[in-house]
Amino acid sequence: MTEIRNIAIIAHVDHGKTTLVDRMLHQVKLFRENQDIGELILDNNDLERERGITILSKNVSIRYKETKINIIDTPGHSDFGGEVERVLNMADGVLLIVDAFEGPMPQTRFVLQKALELGLKPIVVVNKVDKPNCTPDIAQEKVFDLMFSLDATEEQLDFPTVYGSAKAGWMGPDWKEEAQDISHLLDVILEHIPPASHKEGTLQMRITSLDYSSYTGRIAVGKITRGQLIPGSPVSLVKRDRSTVKSVAKEVYLFEGLGKEKTKEPVPSGEICAVLGLEGFDIGDTIADALEPEGLEPIRVDEPTMSMLFVAN
Ligand code: GDP
Repeated sequence: MTEIRNIAIIAHVDHGKTTLVDRMLHQVKLFRENQDIGELILDNNDLERERGITILSKNVSIRYKETKINIIDTPGHSDFGGEVERVLNMADGVLLIVDAFEGPMPQTRFVLQKALELGLKPIVVVNKVDKPNCTPDIAQEKVFDLMFSLDATEEQLDFPTVYGSAKAGWMGPDWKEEAQDISHLLDVILEHIPPASHKEGTLQMRITSLDYSSYTGRIAVGKITRGQLIPGSPVSLVKRDRSTVKSVAKEVYLFEGLGKEKTKEPVPSGEICAVLGLEGFDIGDTIADALEPEGLEPIRVDEPTMSMLFVAN
């Protein structure tokens, strides 16, 4: 079975998340090998279009050294409190991207705090070390101080730091020495983020977010935390009030690169997938076994507020 690492990215806006994720996709050469999405991808000098593409897809997956790395975007703003928690619940570790010039910003404090509370192991990426007069060491110390003030455990405070320039396409252990590419970062992910755990038992998958396709309608996205999901099989939806609704997981998609690929194989626990054809579902529901449905703990779901809508736009 393929090993999986689910990592959430936390970054203040403009600190380089999009550029770094694009680099990761380039590093594993996903663009050129996959015909379907190949045409969407451009060279470094056409960053604007690349930016648009990555921003549009919330989940990105890469395969590196026989391991599948699911990269989960986190909303940057604390108004998305409920969503932050749901999304972080899918992660096995977290990548905190910090600008070497600006250091950590207060807006990411809330998300980082939630990640630490959930016991996630952080990796810190000090980005933009190519900027003149930047202070990568000070940025790194500030991150340490911030985590300390957020009651990080000793293990969390022992986080690895990777330095580099997403823009120039390198990440290494030392900012004074330019590396060849970003493989160091990917190696640090494999080494420090625990593999997604496989749990035997009846199916449990919490619906964490919704996707929408004008062709197929609403799509339920989430992580399978127990058992396996068999495409085409009957399931039960366990609602927040613990009532159950019978449904069918008609089609199941896995995240590959920037897109989704339909699978006919049973999807194991630990994997994040998108389910089509379910009826009557909401965020927070558990997709469970058809005959022995067992819901996960109810989770906070916020109704959208005006400020959320404003931020989203
Ligand atoms: P996001 O908002 O976190 O997704 O940030 P982007 O990836 O869109 O980057 C914001 C801006 O910073 C863009 O203009 C990037 O070209 C630039 N940028 C990203 N990484 C680096 C870097 O390593 N060095 C420098 N100098 N600029 C960078």
